[in-house]
Amino acid sequence: MKLDLSEIAHSIGMHYTYEVDEDDSELESSGISLQEHVRGSLEFSNTGQLLLARGWLRATVRLECVRCLTSFPSLQEFAVEEQFALHPERMAGGAHENEEDLFLPDDMEGPECLYQEGILDLTELIRQNLLVNIPFAPLCSEDCAGLCPRCGKNRNEGPCGCPEEDPGQRLSPLGELLSLLKDEDTDGRG
Ligand SMILES: [Zn+2]
Ligand SMILES: [Zn+2]
Repeated sequence: MKLDLSEIAHSIGMHYTYEVDEDDSELESSGISLQEHVRGSLEFSNTGQLLLARGWLRATVRLECVRCLTSFPSLQEFAVEEQFALHPERMAGGAHENEEDLFLPDDMEGPECLYQEGILDLTELIRQNLLVNIPFAPLCSEDCAGLCPRCGKNRNEGPCGCPEEDPGQRLSPLGELLSLLKDEDTDGRG
């Protein structure tokens, strides 16, 4: 989804609010699975040097739980704040005597791929903001019981019938040897 902002890009001081309601298949192809439309509101304003985008987005995405590997819906809601140089060529080249006029923020390199000559790549803006906000290790719930390490059954759905794991009772041959050595060591000192 590309948004034509060329009108506001040419009118200093102009504001424009865009109500987001996107069912974007391009997002799906980049690995983000949407449960429903991305909604939100973005206000664009032209400061003369910059095109500002401020607002919020809300999306329900499908995530995979890292413990039980179940896919579950997760509501993501977050603020959006982006800025794009309206005249990158003027900011990049020369004009060193007017350095006060160039209030170029440090993070100005990144967003060119989002905004170019009046066209905003709304899909890419949504994608980047979603990726920042989606948890790195999603959990279907805080107390997810995970999968049984023996039979692989999802333990959120009930017990699987495997015997309870008790590491204190079942020692490997190496473990038995180590515990013998430890006992001897204790005896020696005592
Ligand atoms: Zn889970
Ligand atoms: Zn099991």
